[in-house]
Amino acid sequence: MRRNRKAKIVATLGPASSDEAMIRKLFMAGVDVFRLNFSHGSHEEHKARFDIIRSLEKETGRPIAILADLQGPKLRVGKIKDGSMTLKRGDKVRLDLKAKLGEDGVIPLPHKEIFAALAPKAPVLMDDGNLRLEVISCDNTHAMAKVITGGPLSNHKGVNVPGVVMPISPITTKDRKDLRFALQIGVDWIALSFVQRPEDVAEARRLIAGRAAIMIKIEKPQAVERLEELVEVADAVMVARGDLGVELPPEDVPDRQKEIIEACRLAGKPVVVATQMLDSMVESPAPTRAEASDVATAVYDGADAVMLSAESAAGNYPKLAVEMMDRIIKRTEHSSYYRKIIDALHPQPEPTAPDAISHAAAQVAATLGASAIVCYTTSGSTSLRAGRERPRVPILTVTASLETARRLAVAWGLHCVHTADARSFSEMVQKATRLAVSEGFARKGDKLVITAGVPFGTPGATNILRIAWVEG
Ligand code: PGA
Ligand code: MN
Repeated sequence: MRRNRKAKIVATLGPASSDEAMIRKLFMAGVDVFRLNFSHGSHEEHKARFDIIRSLEKETGRPIAILADLQGPKLRVGKIKDGSMTLKRGDKVRLDLKAKLGEDGVIPLPHKEIFAALAPKAPVLMDDGNLRLEVISCDNTHAMAKVITGGPLSNHKGVNVPGVVMPISPITTKDRKDLRFALQIGVDWIALSFVQRPEDVAEARRLIAGRAAIMIKIEKPQAVERLEELVEVADAVMVARGDLGVELPPEDVPDRQKEIIEACRLAGKPVVVATQMLDSMVESPAPTRAEASDVATAVYDGADAVMLSAESAAGNYPKLAVEMMDRIIKRTEHSSYYRKIIDALHPQPEPTAPDAISHAAAQVAATLGASAIVCYTTSGSTSLRAGRERPRVPILTVTASLETARRLAVAWGLHCVHTADARSFSEMVQKATRLAVSEGFARKGDKLVITAGVPFGTPGATNILRIAWVEG
């Protein structure tokens, strides 16, 4: 089962995509990574979806990544009398740490960190930025604020305080429980929401202790400010445009997206572009032209993956949304502009053996017109370096580690096969050619470029580049 595209598809599961038949359809239509969103749903629901994915993987023999997305410290207002109130432009309201029930002129805000971080003139946004307040005065338990943009405010709506580094851990008590559960069932990736500092990632790494890889979500302007340091300590990155677009003006988001993708491509870390990509497909069987263009832009930028949220989790057309994404990616990758744009950012190889070999492999494959690069890897790091070259040909990744094969499902251009390590040089070549044929990457007479490390199975030992011909 070959996907015939380089960029990958991440799809969020939810009420619209929980039964076996639907998850199977989404996978067949092109999903490479399934996202379990711990902001919604019970542990039982996530476990049921997890089991369906793993049995699908077993049945098809295709490694599938499962990403558990932790809610993180999403700030919310408390309860409002009768469920909702209306804020009017120019009104003065009181934000109150202790208030039990919101009513005229008082909004409960049960987060002492917000009051510790507020200052006069600071903007406070509510309900995905639909409501905007400005702080007049504040202390440790209250703040007076003026309504700049009014509207209805209902129970537990989200709160954003842009531009302020909150003195809070990105891993809440709920996140700790969800994390323990996700690691226990055995997910491949953990996504961390509202990361602000490298220390946040270090804390998660201590808790996760190698049991899953870490994807950080860039959704705070503070994280963009420390982008390079954060990319360095993460295993992958998500451009989480939903919350990022609340804290930043919309016109800033496209440029930040390009900046984040570029930083990840330079570092060779997978990067996922997320949120509202085909948003109108929640309700409608076709996307807007602007949405099709948005997916294409992420692909032209060289993102590793594009993501569906509500479209696949709660929409009316989950399968159509995946099919549409698949078609847009393929169409874009076949465009005559694609190579020009992708090649405009070609990171230089670093002075290491895996980079020297990966760089050479891409060149040799192009010179010979080889049909694929076959990359033997243990930890997966050599395959990511091969993908960093953004070669024209697909990269067939061969690994003895199922964990590695699953994690790499998110990465650009990699088609992973889980199989035992080669024991000898000749077995390495035989296995590579046999797999290239059986996986649909090569036919008799085709050439392949193989990279591997000798001795076999030693992580970080890539030191071989071999050209092979597929014989009958
Ligand atoms: P969320 O993250 O869907 O968990 O909020 C993605 C985003 O903010 O874009
Ligand atoms: Mn978010």
